[in-house]
Amino acid sequence: MRTVSQYPWVMNRSITLSLAALLALPLGAEPEITNEVLEENGKREKFMLIDGVKVHETDPTKQPPPKVVTPKPYDAEAAKAPATATVLFDGTEASMANWIAKNGKKENLWKLVDGAMESQRGAGYVSTKEHFGSCKLHIEFATPAKVQGDGQGRGNSGVFLMGIYEVQVLDSYENSTYPDGQCGALYGRSVPLVNACRPPGEWQAYDITFHRPLFDEAGKVTRKAKFHVVHNGIVIQDNVELSGGTNWQGPHAVGPYSKHGNTGPLELQDHGNPVRFRNIWIEPIKD
Ligand code: MG
Repeated sequence: MRTVSQYPWVMNRSITLSLAALLALPLGAEPEITNEVLEENGKREKFMLIDGVKVHETDPTKQPPPKVVTPKPYDAEAAKAPATATVLFDGTEASMANWIAKNGKKENLWKLVDGAMESQRGAGYVSTKEHFGSCKLHIEFATPAKVQGDGQGRGNSGVFLMGIYEVQVLDSYENSTYPDGQCGALYGRSVPLVNACRPPGEWQAYDITFHRPLFDEAGKVTRKAKFHVVHNGIVIQDNVELSGGTNWQGPHAVGPYSKHGNTGPLELQDHGNPVRFRNIWIEPIKD
C-alpha cells in the first residue's frame, strides 16, 4: 500500500484547501452599511448605519466617546518639512498665494494673523492651487483661544484630502459631540481611537498618510482610500480603510464614493469659526 507521500497531489490539494480556508477568514472584513429613510422631528431623513451604528450617533452606550489621553509634547524635529516636500504654508504672505478660494473663483480670502492662516467667516473654503493624490501631510492648527459655542459649533474646520475626504478639525477639548464628528474623525465614517486634543488656542499637529481611492472605468471603487492619522504624536486612525465619502448628507448620513480624478486640491474648511493653521507641507507617496 502506498503512503500519502507517494500521492503528492493529495498533499498539494490539502495545502490548497488550507490556504482557501485561511483566505476565507474575516480579516479586514468590510463594514456593513445600511441605508433607510425614516421620519425624525416630522422630517423624512436619510439614516445610514455602519455596522449597526447610526452615523452621528450621540448615545454613548451605542457609540462611546474615545478615551481622553495626554498628547505628546510638540516635536519640532518631526514638524520640519523635508527637502523633498512641497511647503504649502510657512507663515509668510508669499505662501498665502499658494491658496485660492474653493473652486478657484476668488483669491484666498483668509487672513494672515501672527504667522498663521486664519479662517474668516463667510470667506469660504480655501484650496491649494497645486493638486495632489496619495500623500503624507503635516499640518498644524489651533482652535480659538476664546471659547464660543459648543458641539460642532466650537472651533470647527476640516482638512479635506483631494478636496473630498475630511479629517475633522474641532475643539474637542472638554466639548462633546457625536464621536464620528469630533476632532480627528474621518467625518461620519471613523471615530478616532482616542481624544488627543490640546486645549483651545494651543497649537496641535496632524501627520496624515493618505492613499487615494482607485476607480474602474464604470466609476466603481476598486480600492478604497486609506488614512493613517497621528494627532499630537498619538495614532488616532490606524490605517483605516474609508468605507465611503465624508460629505454631509443630512444629520445621519454621509455620501458614497463618487469617481474623481487622480489628484485634487488640499482644502481647509470655513465653518464660521476663526481656526488658525500653520506649517503645512505635503509629500506625494506611491498609491
Ligand atoms: Mg469640519
